[in-house]
Amino acid sequence: FFDKIKAGLTRTKENIGHSFDSLFAGELDDDFYDELEETLILGDMGVETSMKVVETLRRRVKEEKVKETEGARECLRSVLREMLDVGSPELDLSAVPSVILVIGVNGVGKTTTIGKLGARLKADGKRVLFAAADTFRAAAADQLEIWSERSGADLVRQHEGADPAAVVFDAMQASKARKADVVLVDTAGRLHNKQNLMNELNKIGRVIDRELPDSRTETLLVLDATTGQNGLIQAKQFMEAAGITGIVLTKLDGSAKGGIVFAIAQELGVPVKFVGVGEGLDDLMPFEPDAFVRALI
Ligand code: GDP
Repeated sequence: FFDKIKAGLTRTKENIGHSFDSLFAGELDDDFYDELEETLILGDMGVETSMKVVETLRRRVKEEKVKETEGARECLRSVLREMLDVGSPELDLSAVPSVILVIGVNGVGKTTTIGKLGARLKADGKRVLFAAADTFRAAAADQLEIWSERSGADLVRQHEGADPAAVVFDAMQASKARKADVVLVDTAGRLHNKQNLMNELNKIGRVIDRELPDSRTETLLVLDATTGQNGLIQAKQFMEAAGITGIVLTKLDGSAKGGIVFAIAQELGVPVKFVGVGEGLDDLMPFEPDAFVRALI
């Protein structure tokens, strides 16, 4: 995890132009705090969250009578680590089967995430079923079928344009018949109309709750890390439409800026549960807050 994250975040440092390392090589003066704030903002932490971090760090440094930047680095690590305490980063698989709804706008990496997560759960010995409830995008079910072959998960799909709730109904029956441990539900990502989205997600939710009461353990929102602060605006719309229990942050290997993880925690109050670090089957990692902060700073 550490190495992959570190490799991903090297790009963040390149983007920013100067790494935290050079920042921490200097003096602990006002310039240090100004530069730190700038670095955090450029790293996609968002203006408000960055200012808050710097303010908290200043206070902590004073309280703990820290005199050097090296000590401030430790303080910054703990300030950032505490920010990530917004809920368990672990996937809730307490129900049998556990039904996990995966939502997010088109192109963020929902289908790929389901494929990778399916492979991970299969490796843990779980029976996994994919439900292709994104019936809106023509290739979505085909793509999910490829991932089901790759990962060894079962698949329930219907024709293009079918009612997503009907696919979910089929998937609930299949999961009972085949004794699935985990059902991963792919959903359509159009957000042009929040009311539509809300209606569709509610309808899917009602089918799950009726067919398999108390089985819906997670609603994961997939966010593309390369969209930075814009992704957060989308995320807030989804938060209003569905009760999000966790975030999957994809494309952290791209031109990603790791600061978004803190903005997510701060502004959405929801834990990141997985990060995507590539397009392959193995490129989904459980999010580890300690390792992430260490890799970043
Ligand atoms: P969906 O429309 O939300 O279902 O998105 P897809 O799963 O089809 O993914 C869109 C594109 O993003 C595909 O080309 C994926 O290979 C790519 N992708 C998904 N996750 C990652 C990731 O973690 N890293 C990289 N580099 N690419 C990713």
